[in-house]
Amino acid sequence: SPNRPNMNRERSRNLYDRALSVTPGGVNSPVRAVRPYPFFVERGDGAHVIDADGNKYIDYVMGYGPLLLGHDLPQPVQSAVQSQLADGPMYGAPTEVEVELAEFVTRHVPSVEMIRFVNSGTEATSSAVRLARGYTGRDKIVVMQGSYHGAQESTLVQGTAGMASEPSSNGIPPAFAEETITLPFNDADAARELFEERGDEIACVLTEPILGNCASVPPVDGYLETLRELTEDHGSLLIFDEVMTGFRIGGLQCAQGKFGITPDLTTLAKVIGGGFPVGAIGGRADIIEQFAPTGDVFQAGTYSGHPLSLTAGLETLRYAAKNDVYDHVRSLGDQLRAGLTDILEDRAPEYTVVGTDSMFKVIFTRDGPRDLEGQCAAGCSQDPDCPRFEYCPKDKGDVNRAETERWERLFWPAMLDQGVFLTANQFESQFISYAHTEEDIEQTLEAYKDAL
Ligand code: PMP
Repeated sequence: SPNRPNMNRERSRNLYDRALSVTPGGVNSPVRAVRPYPFFVERGDGAHVIDADGNKYIDYVMGYGPLLLGHDLPQPVQSAVQSQLADGPMYGAPTEVEVELAEFVTRHVPSVEMIRFVNSGTEATSSAVRLARGYTGRDKIVVMQGSYHGAQESTLVQGTAGMASEPSSNGIPPAFAEETITLPFNDADAARELFEERGDEIACVLTEPILGNCASVPPVDGYLETLRELTEDHGSLLIFDEVMTGFRIGGLQCAQGKFGITPDLTTLAKVIGGGFPVGAIGGRADIIEQFAPTGDVFQAGTYSGHPLSLTAGLETLRYAAKNDVYDHVRSLGDQLRAGLTDILEDRAPEYTVVGTDSMFKVIFTRDGPRDLEGQCAAGCSQDPDCPRFEYCPKDKGDVNRAETERWERLFWPAMLDQGVFLTANQFESQFISYAHTEEDIEQTLEAYKDAL
């Protein structure tokens, strides 16, 4: 039985104690500071991680998204990375793999004619915002409430929809946040109103095509189209932040291919680095060429286009192109979401399931917008009459109504002690990899049944 209450995590606990005295909160990124303490990972194994005390978990965190293929990189990926390592990690001069990965991405992603590689999603979105401002000569940017674009000055904001924002972190000058306007996702009228009033001040709308950092809120039919039309009509740029969805949702064409909307710019990271640090800004050639050295928007990095990251990314994407990676993760995702829907009907009818392709999450509220008009554009379920549609959240407000503390008890102890590693809070999405099996899904469903 997978049920192992009171797993021993003594080594993790000791490591956490040591970490607490030398790093803030014992972690190098705040989401990892789970309560009561994080387990420390010893190693990955396919769809599993093994902690410092030898406990094994089915892993749905998958590094928060980069590990499309799971923890065991397939042989072609491993040998390409090892061969690059043997030749030295990086040079500060161009390499062939940068051209190869750029060609691969431009071939597959509809909006990307040219690309600049950087080292993280945060770097990608902050450079994209600077590029949009430089290209349009405007300062205001628009982001969605409940989206996340990394730890950067322009987007760590909060405030009333349609108004100048305030910083959501100490250390950000209020003057920076004032240049950012927030909107509720999926509210086409709010977007129209804002553009009617101030369209000519807006450099860009920066949005995730699916709010993957807000459990997983899909766009309603027509919403992304509205953003596309409004930005085009007012000379603003539309930027899709596909750091999470890129090469995960919609296969090699990314979410923009799935939804049939071509933005002006796209930010990428996670999967395109195959587990190594990476980011990228892609888009229309005339915009991307505004980056230095061809243009006057300064952008640079010692590690940018890092040969190890780009080799891992290129070989991962080639592997996904040649194998049934996207079919596999989509079919396991459908199986898992359908199973969860059944369990919830029976055990927790007030909760709902969201996600599409390889992403999924149980939201601990069912107070969704039952009167929402139109159709869910994500097609989360294979069934066109998705039974979850009427409960599907449409924006951050809907997800915010969730019972987040209860959710955390599901995470730990209820699921963790049954050997299932979920993301640590209600708002982070979860990921199925190519390494997961139907058996993993069945075991996970059993654990949810027990936990719920
Ligand atoms: N944008 C999105 C949509 C993300 O999901 C993330 C990270 N989860 C980021 C940007 C930031 O990326 P990074 O953590 O690599 O800086």
